[in-house]
Amino acid sequence: MDRGESVPQSTCCGRVKESLSLSERTFRCECGFERDRDVNAAINIKHEGMKRLAIV
Ligand SMILES: [Zn+2]
Repeated sequence: MDRGESVPQSTCCGRVKESLSLSERTFRCECGFERDRDVNAAINIKHEGMKRLAIV
């Protein structure tokens, strides 16, 4: 299981993206990947939950 830090992370290549402002509706990764920010956040939350389950 991956136990990385709980920071915003892209769902494509794993790059950390911390500068996403609330006004940005689309998550844009440095690799060129784009996805709706809400979808990206939901995926990150799911991953975070899985990590916590793994730790407990
Ligand atoms: Zn990427």
